[in-house]
Amino acid sequence: MPDPNGFLRYDRRLPARRPVPVRISDWREVYPPAGEELIREQATRCMDCGIPFCHDGCPLGNRIPDWNDLVRTGNWDAAVDSLHATNNFPEFTGRLCPAPCEAACVLGLGGQQPVTIKQVEVEIADAAVARDGLRPRPASVSTGRSVAVVGSGPAGLAAAQQLARAGHTVTVYERDDAIGGLLRYGIPDFKLEKQHIDKRLAQLTAEGVRFRTGVEVGVDVTAEQLRAEHDAVLLACGALQGRDTPETPGRALRGVHQAMAHLVAANRVVAAAGDGKPALATLPDGTPIDAAGKHVVIIGGGDTAADCLGVAHRQGAAGVHQLDLYPEPPTERDAARDPWPTWPWVLRNYPAHEEGGERVFAVAVQEFVDDGTGQVRAVRIAEVTVEKVDGRRIVTALPGSEREIPADLVLLAIGFEGTEEQPLLAQFGVNRNGRGAIDSRPDWQATDGVFVAGDMHRGASLIVWAIAEGRAAAAAIHTYLGGVGDLPAPVDPARQPLAAR
Ligand SMILES: Cc1cc2nc3c(=O)[nH]c(=O)nc-3n(C[C@H](O)[C@H](O)[C@H](O)COP(=O)(O)OP(=O)(O)OC[C@H]3O[C@@H](n4cnc5c(N)ncnc54)[C@H](O)[C@@H]3O)c2cc1C
Ligand code: SF4
Repeated sequence: MPDPNGFLRYDRRLPARRPVPVRISDWREVYPPAGEELIREQATRCMDCGIPFCHDGCPLGNRIPDWNDLVRTGNWDAAVDSLHATNNFPEFTGRLCPAPCEAACVLGLGGQQPVTIKQVEVEIADAAVARDGLRPRPASVSTGRSVAVVGSGPAGLAAAQQLARAGHTVTVYERDDAIGGLLRYGIPDFKLEKQHIDKRLAQLTAEGVRFRTGVEVGVDVTAEQLRAEHDAVLLACGALQGRDTPETPGRALRGVHQAMAHLVAANRVVAAAGDGKPALATLPDGTPIDAAGKHVVIIGGGDTAADCLGVAHRQGAAGVHQLDLYPEPPTERDAARDPWPTWPWVLRNYPAHEEGGERVFAVAVQEFVDDGTGQVRAVRIAEVTVEKVDGRRIVTALPGSEREIPADLVLLAIGFEGTEEQPLLAQFGVNRNGRGAIDSRPDWQATDGVFVAGDMHRGASLIVWAIAEGRAAAAAIHTYLGGVGDLPAPVDPARQPLAAR
């Protein structure tokens, strides 16, 4: 029986982040482990309110009050089992999820402090590793059916694990040289050290999942070959088509890049260096894309922009500006606009924002300014207002508000336009919709025997949604292959986050 008064006795507390000067001198995670005493205290704040809105906030339907109480009572083995019953990779979500569950926690009503659900989750996830090193759970019987999973991000990996455990033979095809999707080369180590991916991959491998890296489906192996070799195919290729701004004067200057080019280059250097001092980050053709000693301007206000900010400081940037088109959000939920338990529009301060740099809101770039040699030397910005008219965004510059910000390196982190246009799509006979995503039927099939999940289906989203869609698509594939019993399907293809209207 949970403690109904725990939240009255304890305030919400998170473990202290590592000090800024220490953490920007390495690439290790920002948060140290919380320690058992703190995490049991925080789990005690969950009062088991009776109608756990946090379940609806979490796309995976994580059984949050159950495992909070198991942690409160020190029943770690049962907490590990309870968490893994709904989430294949809590070590990823516990570190990276923005925690819509916390926005939906009853303790958050009226501006109060929700339970530290995400922190409890990561401590349970790490306890699982410490206790039995992620014991493999291979299927006892093989079904003799075979599935190809294209793309090794969290959607593909979650589906692969579900299907392998159900007895199917699963092969994951990945065009990169390492498995993990955006977890591997998109998200920096200071948010997710790659040892967590490697430990999970060891478990999946022991459960029978086969991995083929350096294989681009549609190029190195055709859709026809894949269909001939496998009984079903899951497409989980992400939404990696970066939005650009080709109409802005100066876009072609040297030093103006997509944010992902910067992040991938930096992550590859860190991966190659191990614990040693990383070398300068470069593009595949050798062009430097390192922030060391540079004035960096990051355009965009989301996860990708914050990751570029953290990377720029670790690389030794001379200064960083982060530009956002929209005005500075409020620090508290506006209940008229985003009533509890929906996800509120509020100012989000990532750990990277503690580390330096200046955020500039309600501005738009008018020009990338040439230094006379074809290299960017500044961005010219104007203050703007943004309105939605008939669903279209109208950006209006305020006359006389223009100014320059020095810039040697400009990073475009202005979002993604859906899944990439690539040969695989035509070969499988699927088309990008108006949002650049691939539609599916209610049973997750994009076309007969070809299923789709994750960002490729939903558009650029979150890890928790990718895992939820991967699990649900695996359940549909299991049914399609005539598998015995049902696998869990936490979401259907039409499911959307909690919204007021
Ligand atoms: C910089 C950045 C930071 C982020 N931070 C967070 C965060 O903190 N929290 C959070 O919840 N979400 C975050 N996200 C979003 C999150 O990473 C994605 O929603 C999630 O990774 C999507 O998973 P996925 O499996 O659908 O696709 P992805 O992770 O994108 O993986 C798709 C994989 O498919 C492979 N692929 C594509 N085409 C082919 C082909 N033809 N053949 C073989 N392989 C192919 C790609 O190489 C890639 O490895 C972030 C995103 C970015 C870009
Ligand atoms: S996966 Fe995300 S939404 Fe679900 S319980 Fe964990 S932090 Fe909350």
